[in-house]
Amino acid sequence: MTPKVAIIGAGFGGLCMAIRLEKAGIGSYTVFEKAGALGGTWRDNSYPGAGCDIPSHLYSYSFEKYASWTRRYPEQPEILAYLEHCADKYDVRRKIRFNAEVTDAAFDGSRWQVTAGGESEAFDVVVMSVGQLNRPRLPEIPGMDDFEGAAFHSARWDHGHDLTGRRVAVIGSGSSAAQLIPRVAERAERLTVFQRTPNWVIPKPDAEFGTAARLAFRFVPGLQRAYREWIFRYAEAALYPALAGGWSRDLLRKRALGHLRDQVPDPELRAKLTPDHPPGCKRVIIDSAFYPALCRAGVDVVTDPISRITPKGVETATTAYEADTIVYATGFRATEFLAPIRVTGRAGRDLAEQWAGGPEAYLGISVPHFPNLFLLYGPHTNLGHNSIVFMLECQVAHVMACLPHLSGGRRLEVRPEAMAAWRAQLDAAMARMVWSDGCRSWYKNAEGRVTNNWPGPAPLYRRLTARPPRPAYRQV
Ligand code: NAP
Repeated sequence: MTPKVAIIGAGFGGLCMAIRLEKAGIGSYTVFEKAGALGGTWRDNSYPGAGCDIPSHLYSYSFEKYASWTRRYPEQPEILAYLEHCADKYDVRRKIRFNAEVTDAAFDGSRWQVTAGGESEAFDVVVMSVGQLNRPRLPEIPGMDDFEGAAFHSARWDHGHDLTGRRVAVIGSGSSAAQLIPRVAERAERLTVFQRTPNWVIPKPDAEFGTAARLAFRFVPGLQRAYREWIFRYAEAALYPALAGGWSRDLLRKRALGHLRDQVPDPELRAKLTPDHPPGCKRVIIDSAFYPALCRAGVDVVTDPISRITPKGVETATTAYEADTIVYATGFRATEFLAPIRVTGRAGRDLAEQWAGGPEAYLGISVPHFPNLFLLYGPHTNLGHNSIVFMLECQVAHVMACLPHLSGGRRLEVRPEAMAAWRAQLDAAMARMVWSDGCRSWYKNAEGRVTNNWPGPAPLYRRLTARPPRPAYRQV
């Protein structure tokens, strides 16, 4: 009997899992989605200017070529439309249970009891695909509740709030801030950007696809595949070594410094925007509109620490900045994997407790003592240089390779020894990665351990996940 599968989350990962099951003729699955629509991060992040800084020909499923991309780096509406297209084409939408937030997944000794909306249902296999960047992190600044204007997080954009002619404060200067600031600057009367740490920024070689290019992508056999492969190889050959202490490390710094020099003529502003951590330690921003926006009249970059929020705006130790609107571009609770879902494994093991020293999973996918539980985009699977969709496809392929071992009520669990060996390999590889440097980033947990990123080249991850599940796994 084919196992009954629960997929938690209908973003890029959960949809990929559902589509692969459909393609394999396995219809015994349900996708639980907490929201009323699919798309995950591409549903939630609809702030002006939201997009991906990996070209969409690569940031898309390898099995679903798409000739409708209008540009190299399309914005959020196009990416969401792609996911909608995939859900419809592969007919998985009918299997999505919307507005069904999973609160508990508990192994009862033979099956998983998955609870959503207070109702439980038994499944043989659970695939968690809840993302890493799905729970906004609001800062803890005194006085936040007293602010009299509009205030919202970048991932909860208030589209009913018109910024035209307003005084806007943006807190944060990461990838989200860099994308929304140029759009906000066009409308606001005054924009004050509160930057705690400057980031390295390199240009985004964006371009619209003209008619000829779009026709070529549609009709020339193999062109989309070749273009995708070229972007992938470039990322591996040039960007990965920059993060791993390799040949392009200094080039990345030079490229970023050159970009700063070219785009920011004012030496005082340039000094504020020059990072003192090595490029890549925090996520490098790929954007060509961010610096010009910061140079506009009416835009200020404040680097003094925020001391409090008042009813009228934002204060530092020396200055009060009045604002009508505060945008918190302050990132996500990225290291709290799977939270707030309570996950209970064999013999009542609590996953949050098992992960007290830091989240970890074999291949980023499987956890000892949690049979038939698989994670997509789990610990140590984020990339700083290539497409997460590639990683998701590797993980889904691994789950598919495990499925034949799970039919007829059988259960597969990763051996603790395999987990220990995996941890040792990760630790050794992580030591040479630039993220391990002293900077603060969302890649690290409170103890300063990198919990989110995969330290190897992406093709190595594909090779490792393509292995059949034995001998790292055992039947329990
Ligand atoms: P982020 O990179 O975590 O940036 C959060 C920003 O808020 C940082 O500048 C941080 O400063 C600041 N901040 C946090 N708490 C603060 C406080 N209490 N006071 C002042 N400043 C504070 O979050 P994000 O920009 O949303 O991006 C998250 C990730 O999402 C990115 O790294 C990327 O992987 C992905 N993303 C990608 C794209 C893209 O493809 N272009 C776009 C958006 C997001 P510190 O640096 O000092 O901590």
